[in-house]
Amino acid sequence: LQTEQELQKTNGTLESQVQERTAELQAANAALEHLATRDPLTGLHNRRSLDARLDEALALDRRYASHNGRVHGLLLIDVDHFKHINDAHGHPAGDAVLRQLAQLLLATVRVSDVAARFGGEEFAVLLPELVGAVDALAAAEKIRQTVESTRFGGVGRVTVSIGVSLASHDDADVRPLIDRADAALYEAKRSGRNTVVLKTAEPSA
Ligand code: GH3
Ligand code: MG
Ligand code: MG
Repeated sequence: LQTEQELQKTNGTLESQVQERTAELQAANAALEHLATRDPLTGLHNRRSLDARLDEALALDRRYASHNGRVHGLLLIDVDHFKHINDAHGHPAGDAVLRQLAQLLLATVRVSDVAARFGGEEFAVLLPELVGAVDALAAAEKIRQTVESTRFGGVGRVTVSIGVSLASHDDADVRPLIDRADAALYEAKRSGRNTVVLKTAEPSA
């Protein structure tokens, strides 16, 4: 009887040790996952993570869009005259603007949207399951207006230009969607900045 009790005790200790180690491993994995997918300055998704989510969105569109007609969209958001902000207020102040912008993006988009740092002073938002271009334009315009009406600590007024594109069934991969958003962003810059431009796919022959 005594041996049995001792065995039970040892068993219990081992079980709790395994649970403890498993919890530690899960925490370590979550930390690693976070490191691999986030941008260190802003905490948003990094470019690699965005690319993975864009691949996913393309696959989901292909599977479901014929049923529900929904596609994903992409916003490319570039800070206007950011070089001037750095020059006038210093690089750390520029960094603070990027962090504040990231928070503002997170607060403005839906939880199902993916906000990412695309590079430098450029951000991207993946909008899944859009009914149409109007949805994407509304999301972009909301961001543009929110940025315009926000005062950034130590810097003041900041504006962004936004290029908008929608996925098309003719897109072979994620590249054309990014290219269209990029062309739209270029157009937004050319037309005077602090503006939103949509570029749709050329209709296929
Ligand atoms: P435009 O309105 O045409 O977009 O003008 P711009 O000045 O924003 O564009 P440009 O591409 O000439 O300058 C981008 C600047 O962003 C240059 C670069 O030094 C700065 N930058 C890129 N990454 C960072 C960063 O992580 N922190 C800070 N503070 N600045 C950055
Ligand atoms: Mg730029
Ligand atoms: Mg810029």
